[in-house]
Amino acid sequence: MKLTYHPYELELKHAFTIAKFSRTSTPLILLEITHEGFTGYGEASMVPYMGESIQSATSFLTKVEVTQFKYPFDFASIINYLDSIAPGNPAIKAAIDIALHDLDGKIKRQPCWKLLGSDLFKMPVTSYTIGIDTPEVLIEKLKDTVDCKVIKVKLGRDSDRELINTIRSVTDRPLYVDANQGWTDLQQSLDLCYWLKEQGVLLIEQPMLKTDPESNAWLSERSPIPIIGDEAVQRLSDVEQAGSIYNGINVKLMKSAGIFEGHQMIARAKELGLKVIMGCMSETSCATLAAAALAPQCEWADIDGPFLVSNNPFKNPEFSDGKWMLGNEAGLGLKT
Ligand code: MG
Repeated sequence: MKLTYHPYELELKHAFTIAKFSRTSTPLILLEITHEGFTGYGEASMVPYMGESIQSATSFLTKVEVTQFKYPFDFASIINYLDSIAPGNPAIKAAIDIALHDLDGKIKRQPCWKLLGSDLFKMPVTSYTIGIDTPEVLIEKLKDTVDCKVIKVKLGRDSDRELINTIRSVTDRPLYVDANQGWTDLQQSLDLCYWLKEQGVLLIEQPMLKTDPESNAWLSERSPIPIIGDEAVQRLSDVEQAGSIYNGINVKLMKSAGIFEGHQMIARAKELGLKVIMGCMSETSCATLAAAALAPQCEWADIDGPFLVSNNPFKNPEFSDGKWMLGNEAGLGLKT
């Protein structure tokens, strides 16, 4: 088994502004693991606020012994091994986990979604995310949302209602809202939840600081729209506590250290009565296909990476009727 990788700077079509920062590109590590003539592809997307970087990822990779990856893969042992090298580093761990899942599917000649037990008839539509911007630019960006059936809007500043009104002046598509921890006042937030319900908003992500479970729980108990924990929920060990704070969780492979643990998070969330949205970072078709393989097990999907970037090094997966269309190719189905 052989592991190779290279850094890649993923350019965003538009500067991406959310409640706490703005950026124009995302550093990636693109990774390949080969075994007996088969190649598995993986990807780490290292958005700056998660704390990983090209440097931390390459430093992690120098400590990885590929001899630990014996086929058939025992994914639970593999994630334990990766965690034993160093805590944190979920994106570069995800890159390895995704590549091994792709490889596993190719060796078994089965698509990843099938090996994970997903039912493609249950594939949810995916949303298209729009960052915070001026009304003029927002309207311009909305023209770019092609055939997405749902729009995800970043809120969390003083202009929240104005921004929604601008969107409603040009489209009546349902909305997801992501406040990225930007709301502070409890009663104002609850009033906003009721107003957003009238505006056709289906869910609200991380309204308040992840370090303030009481406020998030207060809002989750009263909001007419499901409140979803995102920044507060990274890996499987966070799901339990989320059950008493939020109405649902956002699972992202770059937080969960990949497909194996993301799959476990979805299963545990369901047992706890939590709804799940499959999310993503700025990602290429590689991590997009990995997330789409699990998306049919979730209520909602926000897997819009390929729409928002201008230099995806892979072919875009097939997208139709607002959904990613997975096929019967072995592995992830990634086309280079
Ligand atoms: Mg979010």
